Amino acid sequence: MTHGFDTLQVHAGARPDPATGARQTPIYQTTAYVFRDADHAAALFNLQEVGYIYSRLTNPTVAALQERVATLEGGAGAVCVSSGHAAQIMALFPLMGPGLNIVASTRLYGGTITQFSQTIKRFGWSCSFVDFDDPAAIEGAIDENTRAIFCESIANPGGYVTDLDAVAAIADRAGLPLIVDNTSATPYLCRPIEHGATLVVHSLTKYMTGNGTVTGGAVVDSGKFDWSASGKFPSLADPEPAYHGLKFHETFGGLAFTFHSIAVGLRDLGMTMNPQGAHYTLMGIETLSLRMQKHVENAVRVASWLENHPAVAQVTYAGLPSSPYNDRVARICPNGAGGLFTVALKGGYESCLKFVDGLEIFSHVANLGDARSLVIHSASTTHRQLSEEQQIAAGAAPNVVRISIGIEDPDDLIADLDQALKNAG
Ligand SMILES: *Cc1c(COP(=O)(O)O)cnc(C)c1O
Repeated sequence: MTHGFDTLQVHAGARPDPATGARQTPIYQTTAYVFRDADHAAALFNLQEVGYIYSRLTNPTVAALQERVATLEGGAGAVCVSSGHAAQIMALFPLMGPGLNIVASTRLYGGTITQFSQTIKRFGWSCSFVDFDDPAAIEGAIDENTRAIFCESIANPGGYVTDLDAVAAIADRAGLPLIVDNTSATPYLCRPIEHGATLVVHSLTKYMTGNGTVTGGAVVDSGKFDWSASGKFPSLADPEPAYHGLKFHETFGGLAFTFHSIAVGLRDLGMTMNPQGAHYTLMGIETLSLRMQKHVENAVRVASWLENHPAVAQVTYAGLPSSPYNDRVARICPNGAGGLFTVALKGGYESCLKFVDGLEIFSHVANLGDARSLVIHSASTTHRQLSEEQQIAAGAAPNVVRISIGIEDPDDLIADLDQALKNAG
């Protein structure tokens, strides 16, 4: 029997605790698990039997969350990790090696641009950034050393929706996996696997937990990519020396990526999610659809009001009829364009600083996807490491403020924005 999203967000992955009957998933605050006997231990270590060994690899509370996120995304499996940035490294780790590259959209979370343009070079990996509205540019950036295509569904800082079907078609033709960061949309608004994504990454820190209490991430595998076809993915297709020559793809099929991420990725990189964090995220996901509906409803109201304000030069929100990406919303994220957008002020950089300092309900923080409304002046904070050209390409020009609309009363949000805009001159 298949169930609807609202049912799955409460039940997927969770069942009453077999030992106690506890209805809510317990927090299994344990590092290790007792083996039944020496044969059981050997089978677990050989990956011949699935079970719990040590919480760097697997933990029952984290496993419930993994199954829930995989189910909501329509994936075959998922691995949860310590942050969204950890999820990105974990997604790339089995695919990459020295001298290999990825092709990514210019429209990404600022921290991701830094991770991909600077930090991954230390591993000998590199990234070409191109405009994902230009199919020829994506195709032109792919070479024989490319191992993945990377973009966000609704791109941070908001207002942009990627044409996932078009990008997936390019990845398919090149025989490459498409990795989609679905943090800003969540599976309630967008399900990238239905549009051809191979892997979906999440910062669970944001809307999935939904209240700014947890740092976490996830990588969901569609289970659909043929890792053995091209000879380009030896970690998944070829014998793994650390497991007696086991071939992950041949042995685990559609779960190859997930098993590799646990058995090799978490084992050796150790970017593990803790059970307490998994518990908070499970609680958050129970109300995901209710919150996302309210985020979208409020964002449409507030963005429409701002668009008509005399101090405002531009509002980029794909949920507004004025947005060039409005037609993609119905196709890519049919339940709405999210709760995130940017506003450009006519007063420029200085006016933006006065505006964010004058707000009372909105908090000026480096976060998004909270029940509370948040703002950030990206050019002076999260995007300050980037050149002005990169800032503009990422939608974070000096006169732009990013707004993450919460689930408060929209009239109160509008009144707060109104007084802060008056003070900003
Ligand atoms: C926050 C965020 C990340 C990074 O996630 P962390 O949990 O902060 O590591 C990656 N991508 C997007 C779109 C984000 O919003």
